[in-house]
Amino acid sequence: MTRRGALVLVLSAALLFAAAPPDGKRWWSYVEALANDQMKGRDTGSPEHLKAAQYVAEHFRNAGLTPAGTQGFLQPVKFMAWKIVEPQCSLELIRGGKAAPLALGEDAYIGRGAPPAEFVEAPLVFAGYGLTVPEKDYDDFSGLDVKGKIVVMIGGGPSNIPGPLKAHYQNARERNRFLLKAGAVGTVTIQNPSTSDVPWSRITLARFQESMELADPALAPASGLKIAVVVNPAHAGKWLEGSGHSVDELLALANAGKVLPHFPLVPSLRAKTKIQKRELESQNVAAIWPGSDPALKNQYVVLSAHIDHVGVGEPINGDPIYNGAMDNASGVASLMDMAQTLHDQKIQTKRSLLFVAVTGEEKGLLGSRYFAAHPTVDSKSMVADLNMDMFLPLYPLHVVTVYGLNESDLGETLRKVAQSLDVDVQDDPAPQRNVFIRSDQYSFIRVGVPSLMMDVGYKKGSKEEEVQKEWLKYRYHAPSDDLNQPVDLQAAGQYNRLLLKLAETVADDPARPQWKPDSFFRRFAQ
Ligand SMILES: [Zn+2]
Repeated sequence: MTRRGALVLVLSAALLFAAAPPDGKRWWSYVEALANDQMKGRDTGSPEHLKAAQYVAEHFRNAGLTPAGTQGFLQPVKFMAWKIVEPQCSLELIRGGKAAPLALGEDAYIGRGAPPAEFVEAPLVFAGYGLTVPEKDYDDFSGLDVKGKIVVMIGGGPSNIPGPLKAHYQNARERNRFLLKAGAVGTVTIQNPSTSDVPWSRITLARFQESMELADPALAPASGLKIAVVVNPAHAGKWLEGSGHSVDELLALANAGKVLPHFPLVPSLRAKTKIQKRELESQNVAAIWPGSDPALKNQYVVLSAHIDHVGVGEPINGDPIYNGAMDNASGVASLMDMAQTLHDQKIQTKRSLLFVAVTGEEKGLLGSRYFAAHPTVDSKSMVADLNMDMFLPLYPLHVVTVYGLNESDLGETLRKVAQSLDVDVQDDPAPQRNVFIRSDQYSFIRVGVPSLMMDVGYKKGSKEEEVQKEWLKYRYHAPSDDLNQPVDLQAAGQYNRLLLKLAETVADDPARPQWKPDSFFRRFAQ
């Protein structure tokens, strides 16, 4: 052990003495309240989601926070929802005029990203990753005729493109711009089993869930594409037959981070779809812990987490309730726990803290997108967003995995805070999961706010990595993400302490957080 390490140990022993680390029990009581079976998985727009939002609001009120919604602590958000009526849908591969129907759910399913057109029939062309990254002069559509065609692709991108950049351009809104410019009318994505968190059997069940878009058309630009299909890799051979390529070959290249070939496919696709639409409302919750500095109190450090989960759905092992205990009652419980600590310890911060518990995350980061477009404080006054989503306290907290660590100077601030608590900091060990753009921090990033999200981390090759992988495989977006699972309460308590200390440090720092000069995400701040 180096001397520096020894010093940290002494320091943290002193800290432990001063204030015993929270044991996580209080945090768990909030998780129980949000994720018990009566809450029915807190689907966006459901009565149970409203109940959860009111419960969080009431807690903020009792902790002495001031309301920062548009109706007290609440900010109602209007949604347009749709569901695929599968018995009235069909997908067929057409070869030489002959139609071969695909088994919906087994061979492929109709994607939920945007409402599909009622009918489309078009040729298919394989376009690698279907990716365009102007900064790296990378374009899967260059020199390829995709006009009037449906683009077939595999998610991901070549390994020489940095993770955050690759993640950003795989976001549907970004990808669609380039697809439309190239003249494509739809997409077919071959699922890559090695980059997907969950097996096909669970991915495909999600197709029965309701999809949503913000009702405000200014915030919900039409995708412009007529269809998006997701294909089971085990049956992708039907699509590739006669092309001279196999799915195994393409997946092996993708997994090695190689550039993929481009080629036309023999069949064309005919898709008939039927959807059912409705309108609904769901609520964000916003609350302020007022700052103490006369000038800085008008700036806000945002602490965010999503309340919603996916509700009641297709039963797995007889259980239809998708409780969403870790995803993301855990993060909301952390917001509540931090608010309680601020209150109990009468903590003062120079800047204000803005607690935002959002709806619609599972539908595509919609509640946070709405909040970022209609913030209840001056939009330029949000100096940082620290987001919590499924931080997975499944084992002791020795290291935090940080998304966005090297994108802004929040990373350095976190390193200092973590060191003072004897916690290591590491960059995302699995950038192919695109986590940095997959939760609500991305909505804040897109309006220029430097952001971080962090999880209880594991070292590559450790048994904790196995625990995390198993969790994703069996519990992520499954009914078993419920109150009957092993959770390390102490790790959760320590995580909450770390987050609050980080929020306080950012709030007290005379300097406002800045994106790194070379960060890709800096562009949204200009
Ligand atoms: Zn989720």
